[in-house]
Amino acid sequence: MTGPPRPADPPRPPDPPRPAPAGPPPKERIPTMAKSPPNSRPNTTPDSTPDTATTFSDTAATTASTALTHIAALVTNDPSLGDGSPIGLIQDAAVVIEGDRVVWVGESSKAPPTDNALDLGGRAVVPGFVDSHSHLVFAGDRTAEFNARMSGRAYTAGGIRTTVAATRAASDADLTANVARYVAEALRQGTTTQETKSGYGLTVEDEARALRIASDHTDEVTYLGAHIVPPDHADDPAAYVALVTGDMLDACAPYARWIDVFCETGAFDGDQARAILLAGRAKGLHPRIHANQLSHGPGVQLAVELDAASADHCTHLTDADVDALAHSDTVATLLPGAEFSTRAPWPDARRLLDAGATVALSTDCNPGSSFTSSMPFCMALAVRDMRMTPDEAIWSATAGGARALRRTDIGRLTPGARADLTVLDAPSHVHLAYRPGVPLVSSVWRGGVRLLGNGVRL
Ligand SMILES: [Zn+2]
Repeated sequence: MTGPPRPADPPRPPDPPRPAPAGPPPKERIPTMAKSPPNSRPNTTPDSTPDTATTFSDTAATTASTALTHIAALVTNDPSLGDGSPIGLIQDAAVVIEGDRVVWVGESSKAPPTDNALDLGGRAVVPGFVDSHSHLVFAGDRTAEFNARMSGRAYTAGGIRTTVAATRAASDADLTANVARYVAEALRQGTTTQETKSGYGLTVEDEARALRIASDHTDEVTYLGAHIVPPDHADDPAAYVALVTGDMLDACAPYARWIDVFCETGAFDGDQARAILLAGRAKGLHPRIHANQLSHGPGVQLAVELDAASADHCTHLTDADVDALAHSDTVATLLPGAEFSTRAPWPDARRLLDAGATVALSTDCNPGSSFTSSMPFCMALAVRDMRMTPDEAIWSATAGGARALRRTDIGRLTPGARADLTVLDAPSHVHLAYRPGVPLVSSVWRGGVRLLGNGVRL
């Protein structure tokens, strides 16, 4: 592989502890659809054993050990394993899970004895995808906007403002149902960690509501009160920044881990973005930035200056921006669904990788500019149109996303990692780009629990 990512960096220490939030503590959440009885599988079962009639079965993790065997190709993301490449590919592999953790990986023939075994029949296994950038708390529909754009017509309705109006008008129950639906949709496509943001409320109450609902579905919650200046503050953006850094931040911080800002002409300039992110940091939120999406701007340099976990989009970069990213812990998160859905120029992944920057891939799932929840689709775009290799794409969609969330427990399949893994109805992870648009996900495990198994044989 040329221009490999940098998987061998030592794990960074966890973020410093935040002040105790006033709201509920983060906790692991699992889709609550169709609970099945506790796992009663026999000791050895094929992966094609159907789960309950619906897609999800919420079997409890146990301390019994389970070996997943006959894995044609296992992506570990540990270069000390397997073929020694950055993705640490092991052929004819096995994974042993105990409780919610991976406790052993290696060649199938060397697997230790376990309480249970599951024959994966020559499928490939990859770490569960880490989607580190999405906007799932919304209501309304922007089909007409997309249709107009793809038909070459100007669309003059409100864009983000359309979604803001619909989201403010929606009930808690409707917003909750939408988030649950899209988290489940992503899970069916192999995503086991989902970051999501506010940003379509833009009032104190609506932003706090969005984050409270998001926090019921994921631990990776981002406060994006600074998405745009809403129409009700159009005449006084400074007053809106004061709100975002004041009462709105106070109401939102208990539900969020991250703070984000759309740093772009027409949204928030560099000085405003710095003030917003520093205010969030003072409340224990860590920065990430929508940076350099539509034009060159100060977003990337600000991200590096503030040690943001991620600079997201990175479509328009100067040489100085690329150099700054390459010499920082800030991940360049590329979101090709946005360029696909707006017919915009692709971000230059090859340039970033060759310079030594850490690159993540994510969906940017939102109803306006990138309405896909599919990490495999984004990987296929990255390989086909952004000149990433298939190995780089799988690394960026798993380990890269984990870096962008400053997590060391996910994005890899090595002893001690959380047992989040996606089983493919394919013999290699390369099929994720080689067979674009094909539903290759066979089963998904999160925290040692099998959440999805579709019963499809190779
Ligand atoms: Zn976004």
